[in-house]
Amino acid sequence: MSWLKRERTGIKTTTKPDRPELPEGLWTKCDDCGEALFQTVLEDNLWTCPHCSHHFRVPARTYIGYLTDEGSFRERHANLVAGDPLEFRDAKMKYPDRLAAAQRDTGEKDACISGVATIGGVPVSLAVMNFFFMGGSMGSVVGEKVARAIEDGMRERRAVVVVSATGGARMQEGILSLMQMAKTSVLLAQLREQRVPFVSLLTDPSTAGVLASYASLGDLIIAEPKALVGFAGARVIRQTIGEDLPPGFQRAEFVLEKGFIDRIVHRKQMREQVGQSLGFFWHSTRGFAPEGAPSPHAYDPNAPRSS
Ligand SMILES: [Zn+2]
Repeated sequence: MSWLKRERTGIKTTTKPDRPELPEGLWTKCDDCGEALFQTVLEDNLWTCPHCSHHFRVPARTYIGYLTDEGSFRERHANLVAGDPLEFRDAKMKYPDRLAAAQRDTGEKDACISGVATIGGVPVSLAVMNFFFMGGSMGSVVGEKVARAIEDGMRERRAVVVVSATGGARMQEGILSLMQMAKTSVLLAQLREQRVPFVSLLTDPSTAGVLASYASLGDLIIAEPKALVGFAGARVIRQTIGEDLPPGFQRAEFVLEKGFIDRIVHRKQMREQVGQSLGFFWHSTRGFAPEGAPSPHAYDPNAPRSS
């Protein structure tokens, strides 16, 4: 029942938009506070909202630019491409067609970019996931790139840094996708034995199979503000336990309070803070040297750590 009755007919209701229509490309509306933001302002703020600090999702290459010392990144393992071992077809299309569409849209071969760089002057081997490529899903290519980044870190005594941005395992690759969880976890255990540190960075979202493997195995686990961090989705958990979930459930702030992650860092401070932490590991292990062995890098405890 409506509270008000219109006496005259024929009057059209128009809903006035809150903001005028904005030309596409120049402005972006903040998903959180709704503020219209100039693209250049967003770029200057590393795609975070200057009003409410909302962190927008960014492609892997953009994130690498934010995280690593300028000009230090060298890509590796760039030619890995997924096969179609299960000849999988989802409700709409075949897996190879879906891959081709994602490759066309993103200009990337799969959902992860890996390579070596420095952060705060400390040598790292890193793998950065790309949510814009099939939801950042982890198939055999993503798993292999993360695995090789860990192996490179072990062999060259570089700290390993993995940035997650993912909905989880890639269903189109079935069990081959799930076995990446075990493969990467085993390598991380070996990395730990080698006394080389692993830093896991969680951006929005970092969920499911990836969180249940390498993303949660960091010596240091850092999340961006309000990033979704969880295994099963909130709806599934609500249905399973038959109870309402607390506010902010599975957000970075919630999992920090529960002790699941170590720290929340704003994207604009990420390079500096990760660099500081790596510097601590670097100095306390004489440049990630094996026990009793000489430092593998030209180690100078007083050397400036910025490149
Ligand atoms: Zn905002």
